[in-house]
Amino acid sequence: MRFEFATAGRILFGAGCVEAAPAAAREMGKHALLVTGRTLGRTAEIAALFERAGIACRSFPVSGEPSVETARQGAAHALQEGCDLVVALGGGSAIDAGKAIAALAANRGDPLDYLEVVGRGQPLLKPSLPCIAIPTTAGTGSEVTRNAVLVSPAHGVKASLRSPHLLPRVAVVDPALTLDLPPEITASTGLDALTQLIEPFVSVRANVMTDLFAREGIRLVAAALRQAYYDGADLKARTGMAMASLLGGLCLANAGLGAVHGFAAPVGGMFPAPHGAVCAALLPCVMEANIRALRERAPEGEALRRYGEIARILTGEPVPEAGVEWVRETCEMLKIPRLGAWGVRSEHIPDLVQRASQASSMKGNPLPLTPEELTRILEWAI
Ligand code: NAD
Repeated sequence: MRFEFATAGRILFGAGCVEAAPAAAREMGKHALLVTGRTLGRTAEIAALFERAGIACRSFPVSGEPSVETARQGAAHALQEGCDLVVALGGGSAIDAGKAIAALAANRGDPLDYLEVVGRGQPLLKPSLPCIAIPTTAGTGSEVTRNAVLVSPAHGVKASLRSPHLLPRVAVVDPALTLDLPPEITASTGLDALTQLIEPFVSVRANVMTDLFAREGIRLVAAALRQAYYDGADLKARTGMAMASLLGGLCLANAGLGAVHGFAAPVGGMFPAPHGAVCAALLPCVMEANIRALRERAPEGEALRRYGEIARILTGEPVPEAGVEWVRETCEMLKIPRLGAWGVRSEHIPDLVQRASQASSMKGNPLPLTPEELTRILEWAI
């Protein structure tokens, strides 16, 4: 048994814990770049908490999922304003933007110098500016991961900056911040969280620590996701999903992902589709394809046994296909659109299969899938 486990320097969790963020920040800097998503009701209130603690905030709002250009502009802004701290407040988009900006402001250069797959992939050698990540969705777990995903429109793909320096110093996970999430975003981000628990659990890099977190996270999603969707004001369900998302981040950062995220990289780069919705539409299709391939090529193997365990946690029935059915039924109940809704058509499949095969996440899939199997996944998902 040999593995590495790394996470944020501190994790604060619980309803109301955002109030403690400024005290944690005070040890790290005095001039914060506040990176946010589309203006949220509570942004001004949270900025005021920091200001009252003596931390000046310069705002950098990010619209949509962050691109190479977002990171470039944000880092320039942080340097221009003399920021010594980044506070990233929002969904995975704002948090990834904040992490990328914190890294680039310290390392200088262009995002493409460091971006993997489509950039030059150079290592980020210097520690980032200290970064506090405060998620307001329950899905990505980006507050505890060591990558920041950027869209590169020129390459038609999403790719990551990746380094232990990208881990935020402090992750502040306050489920009360997710109470305003509309049902549609609760659904897609919640299924992203489930994907980030299932893929690491069957990943070739799974380890004993990520297994513990994945089992508990999957149990929490089974108990809380549908309830959070139907009653967004239910703090217990929101707390369950916030914890599941955090656990998913711990898992993906330390055990990798699989074919769902392999496809999400080019689909998110080529179509205006939200990340969570893409993962949700692909998840049951990839589970089914993996289970079929494992039954054919590794019927006695650990991965198939693990799909059985996932099914047992989700449904009580330890048969791999029952887990797929639970996920498919949940996607239907939560009105997850198929990939076709975002413009993906059958003529795009060969290109998407080719690009997905090169994505870094594909390496974690429990077994290599053939081009025919990858094609079938997309045919099912559109
Ligand atoms: P998002 O951040 O794009 O947010 C989705 C929408 O929800 C936005 O319109 C946002 O303004 C809104 N929103 C956020 N919080 C809200 C709240 N509390 N109330 C009302 N509206 C709210 O979506 P996301 O799924 O959280 O993040 C997606 C991004 O994260 C993608 O770019 C994806 O690639 C990335 N990601 C990164 C990692 C990682 O480890 N770094 C992991 C998974 C996904």
